[in-house]
Amino acid sequence: MTDPALEPYGDPITGPFWEAAARRVLLIQRCEDCEACQFYPRPICLACESRHLAWIEASGTATIYSLTTVHLRTAPEFEPPYVTALIDLDEGVRMLTIIIGDNPKIGDRVRLAWRERDGLPPLPIWTTEWRKQ
Ligand SMILES: [Zn+2]
Repeated sequence: MTDPALEPYGDPITGPFWEAAARRVLLIQRCEDCEACQFYPRPICLACESRHLAWIEASGTATIYSLTTVHLRTAPEFEPPYVTALIDLDEGVRMLTIIIGDNPKIGDRVRLAWRERDGLPPLPIWTTEWRKQ
């Protein structure tokens, strides 16, 4: 078990996201007043400043907005080279993530996958490989 003091997983704002991730469910916030969706989790709606935010399950489909290949090790769990990308979820929110699969390109459709981690909730990543799952 990782030292809880090192984990950002228990705070009231992001806790529900990580609890769902442990069940391989990707949650994003949707405002109950203006219906805007947002990611990452925040205490207020960025569109109307309402505090009435609900969690919804994301569809798990997205489009690559931008990407780059990382060739240097920046974290122990990420073996270079790997592709990091900004993706637009079908719900309209943008997410920074890792892309797996062959030759991803801007505009490609991607689907949610999960990367397991020892003692931590799985990390949402995205794949270009639709037919293998
Ligand atoms: Zn709102």
